Amino acid sequence: MAHAVVVGGGIGGLSAAIGLRKAGWRVTVLERAAAFEEIGAGISLWPNALRALDELGVGARLAPLRVSHGTGGMLDRRGRVLTRVDGEQFARLLGRLLLPVHRARLLDILRAALPAGALRSGVDVTEVTADGVVRWEGGELRADLVVGADGIHSGLRSRLWPAHPAPVYCGSTAFRAVIDWPRPRDLAGTMAPGVEFGLMALAEEKAYWYISLVSPPGVRHADPKAFLRERFASFHRQLRDVIERTPAERILHHDLYWLATPLPSYVHGRVVLLGDAAHAMPPFLGQGGCQAIEDAVVLAALAARSAEVPDLLARYDAQRRPRSQTIATRSARAGKAGPQLTNPLAVAARDTALRLLPSSLTARAAAAIADWTPPVVSVPAG
Ligand SMILES: Cc1cc2nc3c(=O)[nH]c(=O)nc-3n(C[C@H](O)[C@H](O)[C@H](O)COP(=O)(O)OP(=O)(O)OC[C@H]3O[C@@H](n4cnc5c(N)ncnc54)[C@H](O)[C@@H]3O)c2cc1C
Repeated sequence: MAHAVVVGGGIGGLSAAIGLRKAGWRVTVLERAAAFEEIGAGISLWPNALRALDELGVGARLAPLRVSHGTGGMLDRRGRVLTRVDGEQFARLLGRLLLPVHRARLLDILRAALPAGALRSGVDVTEVTADGVVRWEGGELRADLVVGADGIHSGLRSRLWPAHPAPVYCGSTAFRAVIDWPRPRDLAGTMAPGVEFGLMALAEEKAYWYISLVSPPGVRHADPKAFLRERFASFHRQLRDVIERTPAERILHHDLYWLATPLPSYVHGRVVLLGDAAHAMPPFLGQGGCQAIEDAVVLAALAARSAEVPDLLARYDAQRRPRSQTIATRSARAGKAGPQLTNPLAVAARDTALRLLPSSLTARAAAAIADWTPPVVSVPAG
């Protein structure tokens, strides 16, 4: 049986492992964290990723995490409506609604779909060769296929593509948290100069919120909650409430980086990159994790048809690079034209355009990205 080693046990690596097992491969996931645990907040899964997760066989396990959503949209700083998004219309166009989930729950579900023996934590991979040897301190594995799913600061990428430029700061920093929140039906985001705020209902009467803020990189706040309270003192009540209700220790603060120079290939010999390692993007379209899941299901579908690694990886590269790199570029553009605008005239023009835009157009723009159907991962006979 062909053997794949997956480096990295995040959303992309675990999805790839599930798919490759379904395709009839033996899989070992190597994760450097001592335990498979998640720090993180929420993540929204778009219909493209939800369909891919169905194909991987884990869709049904996500169903209990769904809460009903009504109308959404965008407010301005004072809480006046910029756009409305009708949930029903959105679902009609996209076939289904997007699903915000706690990352920890998503990772639990993905790990539960793998046998315990396939997961090895506390393994920090230090070397990978093009012919499929994976090394770490005190260990080595030889694989037919190595999947580099080691995230935005991928060591595999920098070792195998040493001349490729490193990820760059996208101009915004992000604050995020999951909080207790009585289930709100109508949730709206907020856009203001240099700011985006989003609030999404999660299962179990929780909500996930995020704020992106234009800022120089590396700025840290001794007390992030006090900073946010002061920075958003003049904003509408829901945003201030959310900050007040958030225990200070739950607030995560990260600068947002992305791989601004697209890789010329995701493949090097028997090694293939997937997820943020291949195409880290700014989060303005909420597609980074969704693209990692798409990568995983495409790789698995190809691996189910052929164990000829050079051939299957050439097909993977041809199918995945154009789409994922286009979405990465669109995410960066969406930031520049939306939450990263700071010039008052440009902000006023954007807000006017948003107010005039029919909600059907907003839904159609989202559908253009989320309208993706995964290939079938055929299960080998016997
Ligand atoms: C603020 C913010 C909001 C976002 N919101 C969304 C959203 O709503 N929807 C969405 O789809 N995406 C979103 N994203 C993007 C999403 O988080 C990423 O695209 C996704 O997590 C990428 O998954 P991955 O598996 O490729 O990488 P990661 O999740 O980074 O996983 C990489 C794993 O590899 C391990 N690793 C690293 N090096 C080694 C090594 N040497 N040896 C062994 N293991 C190693 C790491 O420990 C880690 O577990 C957001 C990102 C940010 C920053």
